[in-house]
Amino acid sequence: MQMEARPQKKAVGLQPESEVDWRAYQGLLVVLEQRDGVAKNVSWQLLGEGRRLADQLGTELLALAIGHHVDDVARQAIYYGADRVYVCDHLELEQYRTRPYSRVCLEVIHDFKPEIVLFGATYTGRDLAGAIATHLPTGLTADCTQLEVDEDRLLHATRPAFSEKQMATILCKQFKPQMATARPGVFKALAKDETRTGEIIHVPYPLENQVMNAQVLQFVEDTNRIDLEAADVIVAGGRGVGGPEGFQLLQKLADVLGGVVGASRVAVEAGWIDHPHQVGQTGSTVRPKLYIAAGISGAIQHVVGMQNSESIIAINSDPEAPIFQVAQYGIVGDLFDVIPALTEAFRARLARGEELTASGGRTV
Ligand SMILES: Cc1cc2nc3c(=O)[nH]c(=O)nc-3n(C[C@H](O)[C@H](O)[C@H](O)COP(=O)(O)OP(=O)(O)OC[C@H]3O[C@@H](n4cnc5c(N)ncnc54)[C@H](O)[C@@H]3O)c2cc1C
Repeated sequence: MQMEARPQKKAVGLQPESEVDWRAYQGLLVVLEQRDGVAKNVSWQLLGEGRRLADQLGTELLALAIGHHVDDVARQAIYYGADRVYVCDHLELEQYRTRPYSRVCLEVIHDFKPEIVLFGATYTGRDLAGAIATHLPTGLTADCTQLEVDEDRLLHATRPAFSEKQMATILCKQFKPQMATARPGVFKALAKDETRTGEIIHVPYPLENQVMNAQVLQFVEDTNRIDLEAADVIVAGGRGVGGPEGFQLLQKLADVLGGVVGASRVAVEAGWIDHPHQVGQTGSTVRPKLYIAAGISGAIQHVVGMQNSESIIAINSDPEAPIFQVAQYGIVGDLFDVIPALTEAFRARLARGEELTASGGRTV
C-alpha cells in the first residue's frame, strides 16, 4: 500500500511556504539521542541506515547532537558514519525538554536545510519529532520499520498500519524535509571506526526565555524497567511456557547468561509477564547476540521483532514449528527438560571460566 503524507498547513514559523526553494534542501540529518552524554544505541542504528540512504542519494550524512557536554557524542557520531555533526551545547539543554530541543532542531532545519530528517521512535524522539512537525509544513511518518529512497529523492517510509495488519509506505512528495521516526533495533549500526574523520560544527543558538517554560525538578529512572533493545542475550518464552512459573525457569537461564527475559504476545496477553517484555510487531524489535525462543511457534508478527538477532536457538516440541526456519540452532524437545539442562550446562562452563561461543566463533 502506498500513501501520501498530507502536509500540515500550519505556518512554518520561519519562512512562508510559497517562498521556499525545496531544491535547496540537501543532506540526510539524524537527530541523535543522548542522556548524560551517553548516546542511545538507536542513534548509531539510524546513522547506519542513514549512511546507506545518503550514499544512494549521493549526499552527506549529517547529525545533530543537542545537550550539555556532548562533544564526545558528536565525535562518536563520526566514527559511526556521519560526515558532519552540528552540536548545540547549552547548560539549559542538559536534560530533554520539548520546547528548547524542538526550537534548536527547527533552527538547524531552517539554516542547514536537510532533505530528510530521522529520529529514534523512542519516547523522547517521538515527542521531539511530533513537536517539530507541528511547526513545519511537511509530513512525519512515525514508527517506521523500513526506509528506502528513489531516483526522485523521495523517502519511502514503511510502517505497520490498520491495527498493524498491513504495511503502508508513505511518501511526502511536495515538502521538505521528509521526516520519519524509526524504532530502536530495526536498523543496524555500522562498526565503530575510530579512524573516520568528519566535521563538527558548534551552533550556539540563543534560547529565549519563552521556550524555557518548563523546568525539570527531578529525573526518576524506573529501575524495574527492562531494556530489551540493549540486551545482548534474550531468553524468550511463549504459550509453551504454560504460565508465570515457566517464566521463572527462563529467568534463571537469563540470569546465568547475563540476559533478560522476552515473551510472545500470547504470553503477555495471558498475563504471565508484562508488556515491556514483548518482542515483535507490537512489542520491541531486538537484535541481541543470542536469542533463545522457548515454546514460541514463530508467527510472523513475532519473527519480525527478533529475526535480526546474531544467533537464534529455538526450543520447541513440534519439529515443524516455523521458528526453526529462522533459528541457527534448533532443539526439538520439551522446554521443561531443555531449559534446566541448558541452565546447568552454561552455569558449569562459566564456573570453569570458559567463554560461550557459537560455532561461528562469536562470543555470546
Ligand atoms: C496485529 C498483530 C500483532 C501481533 N504482534 C505480536 C507481537 O508483537 N509479538 C508476538 O509474539 N506476537 C504478536 N502477534 C501474535 C502472533 O500472531 C502469534 O499469535 C503469537 O506470536 C503466538 O505466540 P506463541 O508462539 O507464544 O504461541 P503459539 O503460536 O500457540 O505457539 C506455542 C508453541 O509452543 C510450543 N510448545 C508447547 N508446549 C511446549 C513445550 N512444553 N516445550 C516446547 N515447546 C512447546 C508449541 O509447539 C508451539 O509451537 C500479533 C498478532 C497480530 C494479529
